Amino acid sequence: MKLIVTGGAGFIGSNLILFLHENYPDVEILNLDKLTYASDINYLAPLKQSGRYHFKKLDLVDRVAVQKTVKTWKPDGVFHLAAESHVDNSIQGPEPFILSNVVGTFNILEECRQFWNSAESDPDSPKRFLHVSTDEVYGTLGDEGSFTETTPYAPNSPYSASKAGSDMIVRSYFHTFGLNTVITNCSNNYGPHQHDEKLIPTVIRKALKKEEIPVYGSGENVRDWLYVKDHCSALMTVFQNGKAGGHYNIGGENEWKNIDLVRSICDILNREVGEGPEDDYQNLITFVKDRPGHDFRYSVDIQKIKDELGWAPSENFMEKLAETVRWYIERYS
Ligand code: NAD
Repeated sequence: MKLIVTGGAGFIGSNLILFLHENYPDVEILNLDKLTYASDINYLAPLKQSGRYHFKKLDLVDRVAVQKTVKTWKPDGVFHLAAESHVDNSIQGPEPFILSNVVGTFNILEECRQFWNSAESDPDSPKRFLHVSTDEVYGTLGDEGSFTETTPYAPNSPYSASKAGSDMIVRSYFHTFGLNTVITNCSNNYGPHQHDEKLIPTVIRKALKKEEIPVYGSGENVRDWLYVKDHCSALMTVFQNGKAGGHYNIGGENEWKNIDLVRSICDILNREVGEGPEDDYQNLITFVKDRPGHDFRYSVDIQKIKDELGWAPSENFMEKLAETVRWYIERYS
């Protein structure tokens, strides 16, 4: 089966390509990535010699290039992950988010629709378009409750608004054109290959440099955390067995206040490195002015994917967090 993975040089995309390549010998993957600052193509160096992995540098905003690539590669399915993904950057400058996340999604979706409706396309091909999105489209929660797949969208940042917009376009392609789409909304991922700017790498990087570890507000904001490989297995489960036009939440059932997560990372660093000020990296924690419009709590109800598709997170959080911290210690040393 010939797949396109967009955004495959980013955090989740590179983990997904390695996961698919290792576990599904019948898949051949074309990675389409613009190679923005957030990407690192070297994560895929282990696949350089593989005849089942190919890379093309491409900006999804370039419709002509997208069209040419889809027609030439003739995909059976798409895992669409490419996006501008950092909320803080979307506050500083929203335009790239609208271009890559909304226009980019439209371009790859529309070119797939045209190709899959053409005589060039194999009638037996699954022609499935999996759109990877975030729980942030649902907005924010108080202390109680969780987002389900029927929670109305209420995005609060330009990032989540651009993702919500792209979800709606994908949804419309199922309802209007009968395209074999499926949408996933996942909570925060952690693991190797995440860009330095994100919370967990920032904590580790700053701590190792003995710099202040910035925590927004009073650190009370709550996020649900899922190991990236668990996300990858959920994506393949949805790709293979999700209902056409379906919409699935993915999460770790693993909520943490930011401050408690940061403290746990410091504890792991104390054990693994042990050179924090007065023997404790927690002494570097510094509360900084909150992000504008900072959502208080995200929590995803994953009953639907459990009941319909039999997927559940399988990794142990503390073990995988420690493994993740060790990976970044090596990267930053
Ligand atoms: P990332 O920023 O690490 O990687 C994104 C990749 O997309 C980069 O390699 C970048 O070069 C590429 N890209 C950006 N714009 C492009 C364009 N116009 N054309 C082609 N490639 C482009 O992001 P990530 O954390 O790996 O997230 C991947 C997807 O998963 C995103 O759609 C994001 O919204 C979603 N998601 C992420 C998380 C998370 O916790 N990281 C959680 C839920 C959903």
